[in-house]
Amino acid sequence: MIDGRQKKSNVVELNQNLKDREVEIDLLQKTFTEIGSELDLDKIFQIASAQARALIQAETVLIPLLDENCETYSYRGGAGKNAEEIVGESLPLEFGVCGWVWKHKRPWWRGVLDELSEDEKNLWEEEAGSMIMVPLQGRRHFLGGISGINKIGGGEFTRRDFNLLQMFASIVSIAIENAMAVGNMEKVSRINEDYRNRLEILNKQLLESSKELKYLSLYDTVTGLPNRSLFHDRLSRNLSQAILSEEHIGILLIDLDRFKEVNEALGHEHGDLLLKKISRRLERHMKLDETLARLGGDEFVIILPACDETLSMQRAKEFKILLNEPFNVANMKMAVSGSFGVAVFPEQGEDASSLLSHADSAMYEAKNNQIGLCLYNPARDLMTRGHLVMVADIHRALKEKQFELYYQPKISIKDNQLIAAEALGRWISEEWGMVSPDYFIKVLERNSLLDEYTYWAIETALQQARIWNKKQVLRIAVNLSPQILMDPDFIENLNQIIGDRKNGKYLTFEITENLFLSEYDTLSSVLEHIRQLGIELSIDDYGTGYSSLSRLIKLPVNELKIDKSFVKNVDTNNDDETVVRSTIELAHNLGMKVVAEGVESEAAMELLKRYDCDIAQGFLISKPLPVAEFETFLDNYPASR
Ligand code: C2E
Ligand code: CA
Ligand code: CA
Repeated sequence: MIDGRQKKSNVVELNQNLKDREVEIDLLQKTFTEIGSELDLDKIFQIASAQARALIQAETVLIPLLDENCETYSYRGGAGKNAEEIVGESLPLEFGVCGWVWKHKRPWWRGVLDELSEDEKNLWEEEAGSMIMVPLQGRRHFLGGISGINKIGGGEFTRRDFNLLQMFASIVSIAIENAMAVGNMEKVSRINEDYRNRLEILNKQLLESSKELKYLSLYDTVTGLPNRSLFHDRLSRNLSQAILSEEHIGILLIDLDRFKEVNEALGHEHGDLLLKKISRRLERHMKLDETLARLGGDEFVIILPACDETLSMQRAKEFKILLNEPFNVANMKMAVSGSFGVAVFPEQGEDASSLLSHADSAMYEAKNNQIGLCLYNPARDLMTRGHLVMVADIHRALKEKQFELYYQPKISIKDNQLIAAEALGRWISEEWGMVSPDYFIKVLERNSLLDEYTYWAIETALQQARIWNKKQVLRIAVNLSPQILMDPDFIENLNQIIGDRKNGKYLTFEITENLFLSEYDTLSSVLEHIRQLGIELSIDDYGTGYSSLSRLIKLPVNELKIDKSFVKNVDTNNDDETVVRSTIELAHNLGMKVVAEGVESEAAMELLKRYDCDIAQGFLISKPLPVAEFETFLDNYPASR
């Protein structure tokens, strides 16, 4: 039992945490507004250093910037203790932490010391032990850094300081580049078309970063916990850290049991209240470096840095016991239980999505067997178990060309013209019946067969498109597995399939946005090549991953497909409506067409039309159809709608 005093101090601490968080977000947004439109570089440095200092509570904040000669750097801004003396000084690049950050292209913080050789460590320890420094990274160049020196009131900088400073630096980098571009422009005196274009893009990025910032600041409104996107951000930071330091990370997924019944019996208000109480209780038990987030509904997730299987399971048990203590809701004592699933990096998944999906399958196992808590076990994972049997069948299916493509129309919203179709894979197996592509694509992927399948799909879709295009213009969209773009032979194989360059105009490739997070440079040249063939590029499932439009815009894409999970209820769900509306607006600003997939109702269609969305796809228009039925649909269109 927690006594009254303890409870009070917990509440005070919690309030303080929430307050801190708000202050941080405010600061980030304020900084953004203040420097976003500022063209005077020195002023940007002045504001940025003062705000950074407040943000991470540093005695001193300094902003070194790489000089034009690329051999020295100068302290251009600073705030706090001794800053006045240092600002204006220049140093050779090999000197000091800034040089280290430049050379290694990564941030400096105390953890780095442990990775250095003994000699180097002695050299740096005194000077840089209580300092953090994150790079200011421009679009093309390293610009410099922001460093915090000594935490106010002693102690060390926390991971949170470090994360905040990184987020902060990304805003400042854009502002610096923006101002620099203007500075150069003035120098050239005549307004130079090229610069203006660049400036326009930068401004768009700024606008978008501000929206992104808001998005980032979206904590879950019911519980005040980080939402899904913040969770992904934290996890990816934790993962990169864990890779560097060769540590484990536990992912603990919690799904409440029978929460729906609670909601129905007591009403949503009390359901929400219960979620809040659960969050507060779990939160109180969290360690400083752990993250608790609400993924939606009655699903929570906890990131457990530096926890291997044993430690993760131990933490999971602790949280489980904690949850089982009754809650007071609606003047009742209410017993709550949850199903807990654990997956551990790196053994049970090396990236965010596989970790989460494995924690999810462990959670389901716990739920189905009513055992409360389960560690991921690949042997019991349905997906893995299924594939053992299916792999052989799928091998054969590929060889014997048992796969088929179904086609789903895409129509232009403003005039109802049928302008394109998406090709979706189907496998009707003698043994298994109709197998969902979500499933067989994964199995193919895990068995390195997906590339072969994808080449088949491109080829098949192209043949079909050439037939249909004799009668009417109709692009066919093929879903590309992201990994195929990394295939060293991709370009050659594609050239072979496309043959005549003119054929490119029959195709669109849809690629999921998650892909764009990594391997950026390799990708953009492959994508560039695809475009040169006349093939259009579309970003699929937009909104479900964690990519930013400002990064996507640098790739040569024509089209953005808003994921069906946002579109389905766009006419009834306010949050979805906001996402859809602002995505359309931003994508248009960036010169992209927008497709809404999963349009199921006239009401949704009306709304999309009002928001100026370009293209719609969904059951309202038609389900995906086999070739013959699609042809009938084409012949009767638009009468059939
Ligand atoms: P996707 O690319 O997001 O495809 C859209 C999915 O939404 C399709 O599911 C489609 O049938 C479904 N859909 C379309 N309209 C509506 C609607 O109004 N409401 C609802 N609830 N759903 C709608 P499907 O065919 O089961 O495909 C699932 C996923 O499998 C696809 O998602 C895609 O990621 C993958 N996939 C399918 N075919 C291929 C392929 O040939 N290659 C690759 N790499 N992936 C494929
Ligand atoms: Ca698709
Ligand atoms: Ca999609």
